[in-house]
Amino acid sequence: MSQNIQPILDKALDGGRLTAEDCTALLESYDIARIGAAADEIRMRKNPTDVVTYIIDRNINYTNVCNVVCTFCAFYRRPGKPDTYVHSIDEICERIDETIALGGTGVLMQGGLHPDFNIEWYEDLLSTLHAKYPTFQLHCFSPPEIHNISLISKLDYTTIMQRLKAAGLNSMPGGGGEILDDEVRKRVSTKCTTQEWLDVMRAVHEVGMISTATMMFGIGDRIEHRVRHLERIRQVQDEALARQAETGEGGEFTAFIPWTFQRENTALGRKITEEPTGIDYLKMLAVSRLFLDNIQHIQASWLTQGIRLGQVALRFGADDMGSIMIEENVVSAAGANNEANERDLRYQISEAGFRPQQRDILYNYVHRDGAENLDTRNSMPLKQLSVAFAD
Ligand code: SF4
Repeated sequence: MSQNIQPILDKALDGGRLTAEDCTALLESYDIARIGAAADEIRMRKNPTDVVTYIIDRNINYTNVCNVVCTFCAFYRRPGKPDTYVHSIDEICERIDETIALGGTGVLMQGGLHPDFNIEWYEDLLSTLHAKYPTFQLHCFSPPEIHNISLISKLDYTTIMQRLKAAGLNSMPGGGGEILDDEVRKRVSTKCTTQEWLDVMRAVHEVGMISTATMMFGIGDRIEHRVRHLERIRQVQDEALARQAETGEGGEFTAFIPWTFQRENTALGRKITEEPTGIDYLKMLAVSRLFLDNIQHIQASWLTQGIRLGQVALRFGADDMGSIMIEENVVSAAGANNEANERDLRYQISEAGFRPQQRDILYNYVHRDGAENLDTRNSMPLKQLSVAFAD
């Protein structure tokens, strides 16, 4: 029988910091309504508004060539295989033009770990895009890609991040985090270790750049691994905020985004017998909101969980709906085939009782003429549609 969690929730609601033991007890509990209500309360205190934000951007996966193996990945191809690709700059620009035409403000660009791409390759890519689209936000790469550059170009993480920032990089997504505990990571991947992932993020913040942090769970991890993951993220954020307080400079994690492993077409998916449920997802999200007291935003992952569970997530601690993903290739290769356009997303946010608001990567609000006209589906809200059906 799980323990009474109310004293833990009261502690969080009184402004106390949760311990690893508290976090474990919450994740072991089935009392998700109370956990969700506490997370919702903390969400409203941290972001005291009825606004739920979203971003319009696109994932451009510039190459699927990858020289490591992750058993949870259905996207990568080994170097030299016939179905490998590398997008040309022209192809990337074409995708950016389409994104801008749809009201997009930035691009999330990530790829496999190409064995030949050195720092100069990335600098050329960024500086070309930045020169052509000076105000378009480049939210690109991930700690495993930075670690790969460090192996190829023999540079430390801070130097790499300084050079990529100078070439036009705005911020870095928290990809490749999966579970930040080597007991799990080593079983499912040959990419960078937990320490390397965290140290890349330290370097990102050191050079004054923001990033996000993620968690993909359900890859053979247990609750103790998820708790350690959250502790490590909170620790790196504490360091970033201490730097800001001391020097007035430095970046930080702007958001935390948990989601569940998407198993289709993956080697790991064929082996794993248990996968997280909707309840596991909502509990993880809510506990993240309660435990990560130093991170401003928690993002719902409708792309992996489906638009309806994404909507429910807005009452379990999430204040952001993530991206209208114009293009995505990695989780969709593993079976996440949820789709939503801006109208769908705004409608779901409105029906959950919030005001939808487009943002950019820096969480600045973006105002586009007529966006509010998208807040109904087929110009008829769901309540009216059901009346029409009953007639
Ligand atoms: S998850 Fe990334 S690093 Fe791992 S195999 Fe796929 S592309 Fe490569």
